[in-house]
Amino acid sequence: MKKLAAALIGAVSLSAMAHAQDAVIQAGHVMAVPGEGYLTNQTILVEDGRIVSVTPGFTVPKKYPVIDLKKAYVLPGLIDSHVHITFEGGPANRLKGFEDSDVDAAFNGADFGRKTLMAGFTTVQDVGGGNDSIFGLRDAIARGAVPGPRIRASGRAIAVTGGHGDINGFSAKVMAAMTGSNICDGADDCRRAVRQQVKEGADLIKITATGGVLSNTAAGLDQQFSDEELAAIVETAHFMGRKVTAHAHGKGGIDAALRAGVDSIEHGSFMDAESVALMIEKGATLVPTVLAGATAAGWARTDPTFPEASRVKALQAGPLMLDMLRRAYAGGVNVAFGTDTGVSRHGDNAQEFALMVEAGFTPEAAIRAATVVASEHVQMAKDIGTLETGKYADLIAVTADPLKNIKELEDVDFVMKGGTVFKPIS
Ligand SMILES: [Zn+2]
Repeated sequence: MKKLAAALIGAVSLSAMAHAQDAVIQAGHVMAVPGEGYLTNQTILVEDGRIVSVTPGFTVPKKYPVIDLKKAYVLPGLIDSHVHITFEGGPANRLKGFEDSDVDAAFNGADFGRKTLMAGFTTVQDVGGGNDSIFGLRDAIARGAVPGPRIRASGRAIAVTGGHGDINGFSAKVMAAMTGSNICDGADDCRRAVRQQVKEGADLIKITATGGVLSNTAAGLDQQFSDEELAAIVETAHFMGRKVTAHAHGKGGIDAALRAGVDSIEHGSFMDAESVALMIEKGATLVPTVLAGATAAGWARTDPTFPEASRVKALQAGPLMLDMLRRAYAGGVNVAFGTDTGVSRHGDNAQEFALMVEAGFTPEAAIRAATVVASEHVQMAKDIGTLETGKYADLIAVTADPLKNIKELEDVDFVMKGGTVFKPIS
């Protein structure tokens, strides 16, 4: 009987999932626009998945179910600008890419997506995953077939032969079989790779402008595309209405990508004062992913199965990231919240907030980076990022003030996405 009841509850919540419910939310504290403090004692009216109004006082303007968040702190749903939702990496999972089919990866992504949503992240940007699995998952969540965050996806990252984003560290025969159309050499070939990604469903273009920590090759952490290739990628992507975001650790690669006109830099580990000035001059956004640096450096110190090539790079880049973020933020760089989750565990995304505060953000500025700023970065500011009339009813609540203790966001107590409650307040 217990099993049957559990199955029925599952069925009920699944059917509720696809349908947003009109609702009246009574909220004690509302951070409607992060950066502008709290409004107190507000009523939020939700219809057809969107916010109709946010008004002072606890009224019941329509005969809708009332959600009592009078004792809670209500914020816009959080946005993570850098995840890999179809996998969870690490030394123990190095062979996953060989064992799992695209379908396996999509189902893994459904599991990780649910964890991400329950952690309060109602939108993510996925910047590196198999095209079939991530685009399929993105679309399945969008039509309400599975619970998860709204996803914007790049699909596979575009990389040079032997570079970060290509497959490295296995036999040539195996690597030949696994090499995809995302690998390009020469400006024309890189134009082809961008166009192919757009054709297969990419919302944006991700490139690996420099070497990376987790590729099993001792090819350093600096520039990998030529200036000519970078220029061709940016031009082609922009022609087709796609932003370009560049994974970049080494200073030479960061600066080259910025000069070529990429829209954002992921990681930015070795950024110096000159790079910071270039970021501002170009109006580029930084997605810092300090949590990933800390996670990889942790593996390098404690896990004997972590490949030696990666260990060296992890110990070089990881420890730099917090100070890099401190300097970039103090220098006025626009920072969008992003974690590189998939390196760290899915659902732990909010651990990045405490690292940002350590790097000099106020708690509210860190929340703004994960809402207002990230919504602009992922090109969805019209629909998400604040709790204002006309936007999706994507909102979360915690029972204690995250401005007093940012770690409150590591344990979110209520999640609504598009007017559907996925995690009720207890
Ligand atoms: Zn990443």
